[in-house]
Amino acid sequence: MTVQPSSRTAELVMVGSELLRGVYADTNGCFLARSFAAEGIAVTRTTVVRDVEDEIAEVISRALSRVSLVVVCGGLGPTIDDLTREAIVQATGIPLALHQEIVDAIRQRFASRGLTVSENNLRQAYVPECGGFFPNPNGTAPGLYFESGSSLIVALPGPPRELIPMFHDTLLPFLRQRGFVGAAMPSRLFRLAGIPESLADQRLQPLIANDPGLRVSILARPNLVDITLFHEDAKRLGEIGDAVDAEFGMAIYTHEQESLEQVIGDRCRERGLTLGLAESCTGGLIGGAITNVPGSSAYLVGGIVCYSNKIKSGLLSVSEQTLADHGAVSEETAKALSEGVRKTLGCDIGLSVTGIAGPDGATPEKPLGLVFMACSSKTSTRVERHQFIGTRETIRAWATQRALDLLRRFLCQAAPSDQF
Ligand code: AMP
Ligand code: MG
Repeated sequence: MTVQPSSRTAELVMVGSELLRGVYADTNGCFLARSFAAEGIAVTRTTVVRDVEDEIAEVISRALSRVSLVVVCGGLGPTIDDLTREAIVQATGIPLALHQEIVDAIRQRFASRGLTVSENNLRQAYVPECGGFFPNPNGTAPGLYFESGSSLIVALPGPPRELIPMFHDTLLPFLRQRGFVGAAMPSRLFRLAGIPESLADQRLQPLIANDPGLRVSILARPNLVDITLFHEDAKRLGEIGDAVDAEFGMAIYTHEQESLEQVIGDRCRERGLTLGLAESCTGGLIGGAITNVPGSSAYLVGGIVCYSNKIKSGLLSVSEQTLADHGAVSEETAKALSEGVRKTLGCDIGLSVTGIAGPDGATPEKPLGLVFMACSSKTSTRVERHQFIGTRETIRAWATQRALDLLRRFLCQAAPSDQF
């Protein structure tokens, strides 16, 4: 990630003994640092601290001596080791008061699941007297903010599925309103598939060099790279954006906040096409991704996890000869699977994956991470060979994403006159 230096700074305090024992990774710190950077706030220090009130309070006090925005994360739950509230009270001297609206929200959340609220849950209904709270529609602990002079201490819940929406929906607008974050800078998003991050970065550099007004953030996941460009000058942003579009072409699957699976769904709907999947080494991961999209039943007919050769030949019409001559992990088998699944499931497009996810099963000719995938319609079939590296989990994640991208490109590149 390349981000311009900024005069706006913040510190993060990650609370949790488990973090220091390595029980789970500090993904919240990564998310917050990245998100703040994209808003022009540099995180200058992150401290990870145990669930010990005095230690949390000390870290917060020290952070407050350096920066005026401190974001504390975790330790807001109902259990005795959740001490963030008390620690901030200790560091700032700002007392808490019971907030009836939150009490009611917690009671309602429990009642909707047929449960009654225990006393310790109501600890989460205390709000700073000098400050306020951020509602938490995804959990019981609201976020809190304490106003201490010109400084702001924000406390966010630990679970990422609560923290991330709260960050976008309430914290960021709040910080903007309070002047901690500038007005949203014009930005343009490019979501790329099928290009490694390093290559995307290399191809991007000449287009963005020598423009001090431009901020860039790059975020990579298996097979996917998000590039966001920020520029105060919307016209200049448009010019650079057009150059990025021209450079990456078909690799850009969207400019919106939508997933590859959503784009695939849109293309299928537009063309009235149905899909069927034959998944060997991905074991249903592609089906999982596609059915993550609400309404995917409109185009996904189904999927077959074709692990054994018996299923490959018996259910998906891969000939015994093909399997004997070329093996289950081969271009020929991938092709036959994608064609077979179309017939078996009676759909327009077939997508198949077969490969060696390991750790066993590799041979000198068919090494670990070798994956074939194919996409077919009534009139054409496209097969790809990939060599992935990494663990079983990584290989399966990459195979899933590459196969989704093969499907997307197949759907997008086919001429309107192509028959499906
Ligand atoms: P806590 O509120 O500290 O008890 O955290 C509740 C849960 O949130 C933990 O069990 C973790 O699953 C998750 N969590 C807390 N802190 C983090 C973090 N820094 N990064 C990722 N997940 C976290
Ligand atoms: Mg905890």
